[in-house]
Amino acid sequence: MRTPIMAGNWKMNCDNDEAWELAAAIADEKGDVEGCEVVLCPPATALTTVLAAIEDTNIGLGAQNIFWEESGAYTGELSGPMLLSCGCQYVIIGHSERRGRFGSADEDFTPELQQVFGDTDASVNRKLPAALSHGLLPIVCVGELLSERQEGQTDEVVSGQVTAALTGLEASEVDWVILAYEPVWAIGTGEVCEAEEANRVIGVIRATLAEVVGGEVAERVRILYGGSVNPANVEGLMEQSEIDGGLVGGASLQAESFCELIAAAAASK
Ligand code: PEP
Repeated sequence: MRTPIMAGNWKMNCDNDEAWELAAAIADEKGDVEGCEVVLCPPATALTTVLAAIEDTNIGLGAQNIFWEESGAYTGELSGPMLLSCGCQYVIIGHSERRGRFGSADEDFTPELQQVFGDTDASVNRKLPAALSHGLLPIVCVGELLSERQEGQTDEVVSGQVTAALTGLEASEVDWVILAYEPVWAIGTGEVCEAEEANRVIGVIRATLAEVVGGEVAERVRILYGGSVNPANVEGLMEQSEIDGGLVGGASLQAESFCELIAAAAASK
């Protein structure tokens, strides 16, 4: 039995006043939630504000990124110990918006791909053990571009990303990993992947996991769906056997809609 997760990725939204207001409203409504892990991932500037707003609730705190070194001359980066000191329990790794196109040799900045910050399978693979070694639960994102889907490469792309992300990890470490299938074409576009198709791809991811770390661990790992999840489509997604929750952008920025998603996830399994 896998406990569902509903994680809100606030991306680069909310100053501290807005973060307090949003987190406090969610905490008011769902602070005593059971049957679902709820995670708020505000921007780093608002982590401690949100921590204060969710104090003494069942809601967890997550960061949107991590760097693998613990300290040093890495301008703009945040380490595991720093995230821990802000109260984080989770960290998103390899979100498609952080994966890299910008600055690669053969491609110009392509905002329509929304892939701008240079993460690669290799950097994701270095960030993962950094999170785990500090006791942070990593939420690792994988997903295909629209062009890759159109060329029939979806399964190959997501399997490759999962295998690359987990390279070198022990099965006992993978047990703590949370994966999120986020087709890039569905993120922030309003275009949701059909629930049955999301379930199928997540099944492919679980089969890949089974090859890498064995079936027992693969059955325990939570795999979320992300990409335009909203109150109208969440039930159809959550009733799928392989989908263990959601990683949500837009709909997590309104307390009312995010609370509806939490309720659906908690009621689902
Ligand atoms: C996300 O931020 O991971 C995401 C899936 O965004 P949205 O829900 O807005 O598509």
